[in-house]
Amino acid sequence: MRKPTFSLRAPLDGEIIDIPAPDRLSLYVCGYGIQVQRGQRLAAGSVLALHPRDLGGKVHAPVSGVVDKADFAYITMTSSTAPAPLPAAALPEDAEGLRQALQDLGVRMDRFVRQQNILVINGLNPEPTVSVAEQLLRDARSTIFRGLEAVCKLVSPNRCLLVAGDQGQSLPGCATVAVKPVYPNSLAERAILAATGKERPEGVAAVSVMKLWTIGRILETGRPVTDTVFTLAGKNYRALLGTPLSQILEFAGLTARPGDRLILGGPMRGYTVYDVEHGLEKGAYAVTLVSKDAFPPMVGAPCINCGECVLHCPARIRPDLIGRYAEYGLFDKCLAAGLASCMDCGQCSYWCTARRPLLHSLRFARKELAEAANPWPMNAAAR
Ligand code: SF4
Ligand code: SF4
Repeated sequence: MRKPTFSLRAPLDGEIIDIPAPDRLSLYVCGYGIQVQRGQRLAAGSVLALHPRDLGGKVHAPVSGVVDKADFAYITMTSSTAPAPLPAAALPEDAEGLRQALQDLGVRMDRFVRQQNILVINGLNPEPTVSVAEQLLRDARSTIFRGLEAVCKLVSPNRCLLVAGDQGQSLPGCATVAVKPVYPNSLAERAILAATGKERPEGVAAVSVMKLWTIGRILETGRPVTDTVFTLAGKNYRALLGTPLSQILEFAGLTARPGDRLILGGPMRGYTVYDVEHGLEKGAYAVTLVSKDAFPPMVGAPCINCGECVLHCPARIRPDLIGRYAEYGLFDKCLAAGLASCMDCGQCSYWCTARRPLLHSLRFARKELAEAANPWPMNAAAR
């Protein structure tokens, strides 16, 4: 089989296109602590749900309106003009206050809890066919720079290094490290390796330009994270979180036919949604529509020990073995076999000759281990 190049070069097709706010939003909050009830009228910016982990970001109402449903998986809202949106927050100047404010406004802060020697800014497009990083670096430099100033305040790095492709990108105050724009070089672990020459070094934090843009937007507006920029079929769009994927496809002039796969995220790391009314999620940098004929479906077939997944694993672990341990609930063995080194790149699933869902199994094991280490009680108030 000819090896695909997995190029991260994606030509930029025009400006970022704004998708109009929908009448009804659907926010996926599985695992979150639900803070609202059906029938409640809310102002845009109100807290809807708490992240299960201490340093995770909260979920906020992208619009004013009424809660139609709030169960363990989804909060749906019908938008209205009242009540008026919550006022913009005043952001503190000091690092600790800023950290807390950003978390309250929806940013996951666990990467920025302590001082670091080097801050690596990952400026590569995250996956093949996705072009958000390059688009933001071209069109939203001042917002990204505001985000960078805030992150520098939190981690006080001695040096900032921008890891980018060979297109000559730059950011003020950052030295640029050019890497070949080929997946999986865009993974945070690989960007750190390119910048420092070391695997998992101490004193290094990494942040993507998408996250810097999100933080910059908060600083510019004083309002929580309620939208995202993502790539769909070669163009970049901005839409409110919770916008149903059906409306996004319609706006883009695309149709999901029976058997097609609609992926939230890119082709290597995203996950397939089973309902086109599923809403856009925080951090989603792509919506990918894959024709039913493009790839054979994943199946639960037995491993044939061909070794392809091992040959292509950038973490140099045994996805075949860890996947089998995960299937049998042997999560401690997953850890012992190196699950913690997995970069979540999806190459094992892509290359698996037997079409085994290896990435899914590894994610399942990680989630079970995280849940066992730090249980999050289901919110009794959820309806
Ligand atoms: S997702 Fe698969 S190929 Fe990628 S690092 Fe993890 S085990 Fe290796
Ligand atoms: S690629 Fe698939 S079939 Fe081959 S060794 Fe890995 S898990 Fe087994």
